[in-house]
Amino acid sequence: MEQIGILEGREKQIFEKKSGQNQEIDLSCDTTSLSGSVSQRACVFCGSRVVLYPVADAIHLVHGPIGCAAYTWDIRGAVSSGPELHRLSFSTDLKELDVIYGGEKKLYHSLIELIEQYKPKAAFIYSTCIVGLIGDDIDAVCRKVAEETGIPVLPVHSEGFKGTKKDGYKAACSSLMKLIGTGSTETISKYSINILGEFNLAGEAWIIREYYEKMGIEVVSTLTGDGRIDAVRRAHGASLNVVQCSGSMTSLAKDMEEKYGIPFIRVSYFGIEDMSKSLYDVAKYFSDRPDIMEKAKEIVSEEVKKLYPELQKFRKALTGKKAAIYVGGAFKTFSLIKALRSIGMSVVLAGSQTGNTEDYARLQEMCDEGTVIVDDSNPVELSKFILEKEADLLIGGVKERPIAFKLGVAFCDHNHERKIPLAGFIGMYNFALEVYQSVMSPVWQFAPRKGGNA
Ligand code: SF4
Repeated sequence: MEQIGILEGREKQIFEKKSGQNQEIDLSCDTTSLSGSVSQRACVFCGSRVVLYPVADAIHLVHGPIGCAAYTWDIRGAVSSGPELHRLSFSTDLKELDVIYGGEKKLYHSLIELIEQYKPKAAFIYSTCIVGLIGDDIDAVCRKVAEETGIPVLPVHSEGFKGTKKDGYKAACSSLMKLIGTGSTETISKYSINILGEFNLAGEAWIIREYYEKMGIEVVSTLTGDGRIDAVRRAHGASLNVVQCSGSMTSLAKDMEEKYGIPFIRVSYFGIEDMSKSLYDVAKYFSDRPDIMEKAKEIVSEEVKKLYPELQKFRKALTGKKAAIYVGGAFKTFSLIKALRSIGMSVVLAGSQTGNTEDYARLQEMCDEGTVIVDDSNPVELSKFILEKEADLLIGGVKERPIAFKLGVAFCDHNHERKIPLAGFIGMYNFALEVYQSVMSPVWQFAPRKGGNA
């Protein structure tokens, strides 16, 4: 363990909150990953793919070699209440000859064939690294196909090498912006919202939508969980944008504010405190309707009454246990710290792939002394801090799971692959149960770090 060091060039992306010191966090973030560090962060293309993937009645065509499509096939387990076109993986499968002669014709023919066969409401065309290198004019192909087929065909400029995962989020948001504003807003109520940054991985969008609808609020669209093209087209008719995954969707919220004058608020649906606040903040915005706030209070009170006694059972067992968090967006980390505290656990490592300066300053404020804060980490660093800080649990996604299991540490998937909702009040119960079951499993006694020989 002592031999695990920090890569040269990574020192400024790691910060440890020391006791009794008046430190100012100056974390280097929003930069491209250090070459050779084997970053946990995904490429630009992957960033755009995860944002748009849940739009279920569109064709998603990856223009590039087959590896890019395979890498992102069914990348989010986003569930749909209707069509499931998003779960199919389409690629132009570019080969050596296409690199030499160009892939535009192949793209055109693939699109025509797919649209003819699947009759989608729209098509998203993703540029990958190789397309950026050979210079295919995907805009021109998309325009031509849109004219011939009569559906929106939207280029997503997401060449993998051209920045960080965040640039992929922006590319996805600018494609959505081309759709927004093209549908009718006639029947939309004044008391209406769009839910941004909720991807319906395990039905969370339905849970959240139900809370708001119970409060008497119309949900115009969910971007992009259980997404539908027609709903996206009329999203400009909502009165307020409620943004959860701020890293991926803030740029869209800002663009909508500028173009359509729709204000936005940032929320999180994880943990009792933040979930309740998400309902209250929306109710406050519609303050001319006091019944909306009354209803919000009623929902919170009913849910907390059911949940609180259950959480106490987990708290008893988990008090004193330590968690490490490494997730995509930093905003989720804030909620997770609060949620873990509510079940008696402390956080010893908090990191994200896409946090910014303000996010890390807030993390410094929230975290206990001794906590390591890390930006754009890699498996070696995560292993080092998990072992040094003696974490009992790692919360992350698919790429962090093997790190936890190899180290003999409990794991909770808080990302694309989970099948049980972790948002909303019911989600907090599911989260606490999963953490409890994993941390308290007897299997860890056999892990080498606990003296076992397994
Ligand atoms: S777009 Fe580039 S970096 Fe991303 S998966 Fe494809 S080849 Fe890899």
